[in-house]
Amino acid sequence: MQSTETLLETPNDWALSQASRTFLAAGAFGHLIDGETVGSVSGETFPVYDPATGREFARCAAAGREDVDRAVRSARQAFDDGRWRNLEPLEKERRLRRLSGLIQDNRDLLMDLDVIDGGLVRAYSEFIVKFGQDAVDYYSGWPTKLHGSTPACPPDVVVQEVREPVGVVGVITPWNGPSAAPAGIVPALACGNSVVLKPAEQTPLAALVVGRLCLEAGIPAGVVNVLQGVGEVAGAGLVEHPMVDVIGFTGSGDTGRRIQAAAAPRLKRVGMELGGKSPHIVFDDADLEAAATTVAGAVWGHSGQVCTAGSRVLVQRGIHDELVAEVVARSRDIRLGSGFKADTQMGPLVSREQLDRVCRYVAIGKAEGAELVLGGERHGQTGYFHQPTIFTGVHNDMTIARDEIFGPVMAVIPFDTEEEAVAIANDSEFGLAAGVWTRDLGRAHRMTQAIRAGTVWVNTYQRVYPSIPYGGVKQSGYGRNLGAPSLDHYTQTKTVWLKIR
Ligand code: ADP
Repeated sequence: MQSTETLLETPNDWALSQASRTFLAAGAFGHLIDGETVGSVSGETFPVYDPATGREFARCAAAGREDVDRAVRSARQAFDDGRWRNLEPLEKERRLRRLSGLIQDNRDLLMDLDVIDGGLVRAYSEFIVKFGQDAVDYYSGWPTKLHGSTPACPPDVVVQEVREPVGVVGVITPWNGPSAAPAGIVPALACGNSVVLKPAEQTPLAALVVGRLCLEAGIPAGVVNVLQGVGEVAGAGLVEHPMVDVIGFTGSGDTGRRIQAAAAPRLKRVGMELGGKSPHIVFDDADLEAAATTVAGAVWGHSGQVCTAGSRVLVQRGIHDELVAEVVARSRDIRLGSGFKADTQMGPLVSREQLDRVCRYVAIGKAEGAELVLGGERHGQTGYFHQPTIFTGVHNDMTIARDEIFGPVMAVIPFDTEEEAVAIANDSEFGLAAGVWTRDLGRAHRMTQAIRAGTVWVNTYQRVYPSIPYGGVKQSGYGRNLGAPSLDHYTQTKTVWLKIR
């Protein structure tokens, strides 16, 4: 098969698991609709590329409107007949826990797939698979804990506020953590909904595996459907379909705005986890060793293709040169390569388009007068690699400090006072996350109060845990993933009045 040959030609320290070989040998992949793997009605497909080599290694079914309709009707039927929704809560929990076990059993396959189509390095793919599994573990405890309330009411009636699932949920996911797909769907499932999952077209494979594992775990056919295809057709089709009740979207702001506009005519509920340009602020009393290591990791992790990348590094002037030197020292010798090489530290960007975007922003940074102190070039001629790139002398009004680049580009901005740090941090259209490094407890609290962001980490960065809510403010979106607040998006209340006197 072309698919496996292509991968086996890739210099490879990491033996693909037998499960991955078997899976990839198919060469062509479909949707999962009503428990069956199917192609598109039109027979149309799209190519899937290995970003480490730039080579096409598989093809995937491309949904047209008929396929969107099939997948949505499957989910609708599954919801309406109650095959999942009406299972008793403990039984839902058992099956979700089985899903967690199956993810564990298939972690090599999921990690391989994320390396192959997403360009993740091994350590990051391990984190992503574990993140998905952790989310399943967390939400698998929820079905027995969801409840409504009995509001105070007049004496002649009994009133119940019943908490119900919303129905059919369209989950649209990005390409930067494909095997985190379980984290995208399991909040909706725990609440009793049916799902149509639309993974990003750059990274379609893991979602298909996750859909099949749901079936194997005993989540009935039709409750989890996977729809493959480009965003403008498959994603937009879900947003517009009248039988989809709620959309959960993670991706770019531009696409988020398009989705919100498309959802408006039907008043469809949408949840938005969008991008960021997160300030990572280092004060002169910080533990510089720890700060430097974390500042570097927060931009080089997955080549900067992480929503919470700490891409604006704000450094107090007294330690500026020392911190920059420490960060450069930790970044200079980073080994770029395929995630299948054991010593690789940074992988490729996901696509040619993403590489071109990064190169464009680096050129803009130079043209606007920022000082390039590391990197600045594409790495090699094969695949979509870009060097870790550090600009100093950045002003917050420069393009590289304002736009989300989603690549390995760090913009270092000096500041003098706490007030100035707050002003620069908040002078952004985004508000996803921020980091603060200081040993001063009072300052830490003042900063966390003043920064407008969905998450502020102090003396750490990019920690996530399934019971802890996550999401943005301003142009970084609204609604919260993870934690108890995420369940509000996938449930609604019904008020029941009963006259008793
Ligand atoms: P990027 O621009 O970084 O590729 P996107 O935000 O466009 O990220 O993609 C995130 C997800 O949104 C993907 O699954 C993509 O297919 C989907 N998508 C893209 N355009 C649309 C759209 N118009 N409607 C719905 N989903 C879309």
